[in-house]
Amino acid sequence: MTRTSAAAATQATVYGYPRQGRHRELKKAIEGYWKGRTDATALTATATALRRAHWRELADAGITEVPTGDFSLYDHVLDATVMVGAIPARHRTAVDAHALDGYFAMARGTQEVAPLEMTKWFDTNYHYLVPELGPDTVFSADPGKQVGELREALALGLAARPVLVGPVTFLLLAKPAPGVAADFEPLTLLDRLLPVYAEVLADLRAAGAEWVQLDEPALVQDRTPAELNAAARAYRDLGALTDRPKLLVASYFDRLGEALPVLAKAPVEGLALDFTEAAAANLDALAAAGGLPGKRLVAGVVNGRNIWINDFSRSLSTLATLLGLADRVDVAASCSLLHVPLDTGLERDIEPQVRRWLAFARQKTSEIATLAKGLAQGTDAIAAELAANRADLASREHSPITRDPAVRNRAAAVTDTDTRRSQPYARRTSAQRAHLGLPLLPTTTIGSFPQTDELRAARADLRAGRIDTAGYEDRIKTEIQEVISFQEKTGLDVLVHGEPERNDMVQYFAEQLTGYLATQHGWVQSYGTRYVRPPVLAGDISRPRPMTVRWTTYAQSLTTRPVKGMLTGPVTMLAWSFVRDDQPLADTARQVALALRDEVTDLEAAGTSVIQVDEPALRETLPLRTADRPGYLDWATEAFRLTTAGVRPDTQIHTHMCYAEFGDIVQAIDDLDADVISLEAARSHMQVARELAAHGYPREAGPGVYDIHSPRVPGAQEAADLLRTGLRAIPAERLWVNPDCGLKTRAWPETRASLEHLVAAARTVRAEIAPEPGPK
Ligand code: GLN
Ligand code: ZN
Repeated sequence: MTRTSAAAATQATVYGYPRQGRHRELKKAIEGYWKGRTDATALTATATALRRAHWRELADAGITEVPTGDFSLYDHVLDATVMVGAIPARHRTAVDAHALDGYFAMARGTQEVAPLEMTKWFDTNYHYLVPELGPDTVFSADPGKQVGELREALALGLAARPVLVGPVTFLLLAKPAPGVAADFEPLTLLDRLLPVYAEVLADLRAAGAEWVQLDEPALVQDRTPAELNAAARAYRDLGALTDRPKLLVASYFDRLGEALPVLAKAPVEGLALDFTEAAAANLDALAAAGGLPGKRLVAGVVNGRNIWINDFSRSLSTLATLLGLADRVDVAASCSLLHVPLDTGLERDIEPQVRRWLAFARQKTSEIATLAKGLAQGTDAIAAELAANRADLASREHSPITRDPAVRNRAAAVTDTDTRRSQPYARRTSAQRAHLGLPLLPTTTIGSFPQTDELRAARADLRAGRIDTAGYEDRIKTEIQEVISFQEKTGLDVLVHGEPERNDMVQYFAEQLTGYLATQHGWVQSYGTRYVRPPVLAGDISRPRPMTVRWTTYAQSLTTRPVKGMLTGPVTMLAWSFVRDDQPLADTARQVALALRDEVTDLEAAGTSVIQVDEPALRETLPLRTADRPGYLDWATEAFRLTTAGVRPDTQIHTHMCYAEFGDIVQAIDDLDADVISLEAARSHMQVARELAAHGYPREAGPGVYDIHSPRVPGAQEAADLLRTGLRAIPAERLWVNPDCGLKTRAWPETRASLEHLVAAARTVRAEIAPEPGPK
């Protein structure tokens, strides 16, 4: 009897929905506002209309409780910063003068003030703006946005639940404001922050919220006892408030672990847990904690960050188990649907049968509604959906796309020898020196040169049929000629072809590999108004024909200096794609690595002596929990070595990573067994060079001396100073001179000047180390 009433109350819900609209209306409206083409009223109207449309869409699909407050004009963490009044001092005037312009100033900076720092939202490709706090931070409640959006949804007659970044996660994501001691811990501000949350909660209650969701994804990471105590205190205090809505504390992206018993004991009315990848761990921990008697459990059984259809029978069996552990069980996606595209229905180019394997936000909402119905009314009520689901899963499982015996046999036959170069680094390096004949402190770039309007226009012309492939390729060749001739004139030592043919460093390869799917409209927010369209690793991966050899050899035909071949590495190919959920990531990585290995072999055979395999995603894909990291680094470094180890000793393998903090993976970087690594370093004054040295990193390295994230041109003096700093950590025989990253986002004038200065700096410092004998 109780079982039935609990199940009958089952709700279908989500924590957030893609913000952009079907035609990326939001992006257009915001960018129009920035350019002064639309005013604030028009922007607000677009935003309001989108929110309404999304809520209606959710309700029509059978979502019984819609989220509010998840919508954002830029970022939900920035919205939380505004909600608690933590406006950085340097933005105060702008915010007071004009709230909307001040908001965008915090997000993007202005001529006068720097924006907030941006970083990745846990292990997703979404970027949030980092709150800046200090001992003097004074919080004050600004619940306007939350209350306003709740009212909008309630006015449509919908059951609505505001979603807020929780106070513990907010503080754990924050960093010390500029000028504040680096060891300042924002979590020490908890007691000051909680009254502000209390005020917001009271206002939401007054506006009609029955439930409010507080997102605490930071609790799925390893946390210290002190941090767990802070979480316990936060929810004891918020729970003790008398004038408040019911509280649902949400976790996602991984297992709650030690935080689960803490939250289970807290005086809150509900918990939301991830039952996708973390299902087993969360189920065990929940059972061990004695379940959630008297509480609402929201079960994230539909994967909110990947694009495959749900396995209904598996989800229903998880849900059935959960019914025994909580007072009421609701069905949800594991996290906000922000991380998946909107609607597979827009994809006209994907074969209908294959499209049935995919679920974007829209499809996921129906899956959630179906599962909720199945849970509440029994599986008979969803018999048709269950049968269709079984058929689609079977079609995927048995498709030749999913299983290519040739690829599987090859991957199974990989041996340790395939992942080891024939000679150790120390021996290879002299062979490479002899082969390449480079000067001390060789200069190079990271691969891309400016992606000009002309190049983008050429691609658009090709797509629209205004030019044919031959016409397009002529334009690319002209660009390569210019890039090569500029580098020769400037005096760079190892040249690149400039990557003019690449729309994106992952998509370009995905389009050429069998087993990958491209979407036409699969946009996902990366940050602000920037959206990316990750390709889908759908099946077994193989390379039908060479992908880059033609362009690299064309570039090489124009010069006698070495031209670097340029590939995206296997880990990054996975990290910036939607991955298969039907086999371990390690297996997919190995298939991609084998396809790339063929490309490396072909490049070498075509006369390429330097090959760079970019792995900018190696560190960002690091699992959230420390315990999971060694396993990841094992397969990730193996995939890189499998890609690169087949070459001759005198072929030089480069890699590139673009982040400044990597102290925790220096060993893994060494395990890649690359000959040369280029890294971002300009902003941190060569900090990475010191970290490499501290680790005893034995190989060649190019810590960047030119910050490509800004249009600013570094002077030759400044670059030379950075090089001298680098030399204190890395001996001259092993130090390269290069920018921080690729130049595709830069314009030609600053690129030209900066690279001229970079070469001048290398020459100056070379002369200081090994002065050429002057005339007597
Ligand atoms: N080779 C790429 C480029 O130069 C590397 C980009 C990256 O690291 N993100 O653009
Ligand atoms: Zn980079």
